[in-house]
Amino acid sequence: LHVEPDLSAGAMLTLGKDQSLYLAAVLRKTVGDEVVLFNGRDGAWLARLTGDSKRAVTLETVERIAPQTPPSDLWYGFAPLKTERLDYVVQKATEMGAGVIQPVLTRYTQVSRLKHDKLVANVIEAAEQCEVLTVPEVRPETTLERLIADWPAREGDRRLVFADEGEASASPLEAIRALAGEPVGLLVGPEGGFSDEERTLLHAQPFVVPVSLGPRILRADTAAVAALAVIQAIIGD
Ligand code: SAM
Repeated sequence: LHVEPDLSAGAMLTLGKDQSLYLAAVLRKTVGDEVVLFNGRDGAWLARLTGDSKRAVTLETVERIAPQTPPSDLWYGFAPLKTERLDYVVQKATEMGAGVIQPVLTRYTQVSRLKHDKLVANVIEAAEQCEVLTVPEVRPETTLERLIADWPAREGDRRLVFADEGEASASPLEAIRALAGEPVGLLVGPEGGFSDEERTLLHAQPFVVPVSLGPRILRADTAAVAALAVIQAIIGD
């Protein structure tokens, strides 16, 4: 369970309404039951319920059971999709080990306003589910042009794998294998794909590595999962 406060031996915590309801009513935890807590900084902590009110569960930490893991270095940028697909890609990116989640507005992006808090809540829920102890950083949305302009200053020598169905490359495996050992980002487009101008802009950048995921046009959410799987299989941890 993700919590905000610092975690140390004997720390006393009171959970908010949603988490209390989840523990006390859904999981039926009662006084004395154990729960694992993490806050993204202090590792994983075993804690015991000291109160099981559905409105305000109280807990006391017992011992640290795992050290804090370092944040993942995998950067994932995507053109925001409509509601359920947006939730899906953010959740899957977390499961697939993204460390930074960056919404990128492109010419054919159909969603321009994002609920940042909702994205963060989704990411936290996914992190809890897959037991990563660091919650990926969800960055505020940016435009493709700004992303490209800021990239070298902000990301240093990180390479940007640009997933594009228009690419002729035979295999994503070779392209990604060639990046082993380097910091990597992945950019996936919107429902309508990238415009010709955007493709030209991306191709002109020395840090961009265009990659095809095969001859079929994948849904944007499928493409994200497929590309993240290839990246993790080859250079992930
Ligand atoms: N219309 C569908 C949708 O609603 O999702 C397909 C959209 S596809 C154009 C969305 C993005 O997925 C593309 O911009 C690209 O980043 C990625 N993509 C899809 N198929 C791909 C492929 N075969 N190779 C590389 N990237 C691909």
